[in-house]
Amino acid sequence: MSVEKRTSTNVLLDTALKNFYAAAAEMGLDDGLVEILSRSERKVCVSVPVELDDGTIRVCDGYRVAHSTALGPAKGGVRFHPDVCLDECEALAFMMTWKCSLAGIPYGGGKGGVACDPLELSPKEKERIARTFAARIEPFVGSWTDVPAPDVGTGGPEMVWFMDTISKMRGRLDPAIFTGKPISLWGSKGRTAATGLGVATCAMEFLKAIGKPVQGATAAVQGFGNVGSHAARVLTEAGAKVVGISDITGTYFCKDGLDIAKAMAHSAAHPKKLLEGFEQPGLEKRPLEDVLFLDVDVFLPCALEGAVNAKNADKVKAKYIVEGANGPITPEADAILDGKGVLIVPDFLANSGGVIGSYFEWCQNLAGFFWTEAEYNERLLRIMRDNFHRVWEYSKEKNIKMRRAAFMVSIKRVADAVRMRGVFL
Ligand code: NAD
Repeated sequence: MSVEKRTSTNVLLDTALKNFYAAAAEMGLDDGLVEILSRSERKVCVSVPVELDDGTIRVCDGYRVAHSTALGPAKGGVRFHPDVCLDECEALAFMMTWKCSLAGIPYGGGKGGVACDPLELSPKEKERIARTFAARIEPFVGSWTDVPAPDVGTGGPEMVWFMDTISKMRGRLDPAIFTGKPISLWGSKGRTAATGLGVATCAMEFLKAIGKPVQGATAAVQGFGNVGSHAARVLTEAGAKVVGISDITGTYFCKDGLDIAKAMAHSAAHPKKLLEGFEQPGLEKRPLEDVLFLDVDVFLPCALEGAVNAKNADKVKAKYIVEGANGPITPEADAILDGKGVLIVPDFLANSGGVIGSYFEWCQNLAGFFWTEAEYNERLLRIMRDNFHRVWEYSKEKNIKMRRAAFMVSIKRVADAVRMRGVFL
């Protein structure tokens, strides 16, 4: 009996499934394991009623998906966004399984969300939604079952409301159920910069692996938020020349290299955390998309999914791309870039510093013992470097692209766990 392949009208889920099936076929993975791993273990749909500040009642849809718990508790964010739907949560949970497996941490993949617009909600309304959502998914989350984290539209405050609600319902404090909490409430030092640090580390290890010195290498970074700004900072500190950065206000270019510390201070002080009004000698302000087309060694898309697509991929001049955002290159663009010989470090390897950092927070919460930022960074760097080289060596050995190699390495670890644990429940 051959495997009946799943497809989805949701592009994210369909692309993730296609990548999985292709890698599984290349590995010669057993049909039964392909069937198991192409499905989610658990998909929970809840309604989330909320009383708005004006007294009216609205009901939002909420979801929590655990794709796999073969390697450990499901791990993944909770998104508050109007477009949240079950397929999107399933696609993101699916990708979390491969990201956690590739990272070598003891987690499976999960994701959830509430279809609501946080920009239209008051803090009190957000709190009511967060607490009701937490109460409704309570039977399915726990420090050894499913460990949610922040995602688009959620952050420290939501994690505290989630954790507080569930701890009170259970009559027992359990900070390890949620990660991404503020440092003052069981959060972890080092987490803010972790993803950007990991992205920059992958970029630097990649340059070293191809024999190009980091010192003097040129880079451009799309998106100057949490991930992009720290990636640009770490690269600059290592001697690379970041000549282009961008945010929604446009591209900022300086051929002699940008003053990243100054740009970070500028956006931190801006009321909307933007680069708008940033100045330095030799700076050129360019249109939004220009950052994609700069003639640099490495391009780091750290803003949005689908940023490099069939319409613009042909104009990309960078030789190497390190994906900081999730899914910044569409499958069509991937093929175009491949044809141009561009080498790509895939997102679920490059941006795994975030989830590795979440794992560190969980470890500290379980132990009730906190690490210094230096300890956190030292462990993160070691893991990121090892993971990069595992995928790099495998891609060379098999003569395949890094994205395919990363899928194969991560699928193998989960498949081995399913085999060892057995097919039961
Ligand atoms: P953020 O909101 O802090 O920053 C996003 C940045 O992108 C902002 O500077 C914004 O102005 C910019 N931006 C948005 N649209 C743009 C456009 N069209 N052109 C140029 N810039 C644009 O978000 P973040 O936390 O830095 O996340 C960025 C990406 O990385 C997302 O895809 C996210 O899912 C992914 N990611 C984040 C983490 C994390 O720990 N923060 C972990 C893994 C993956």
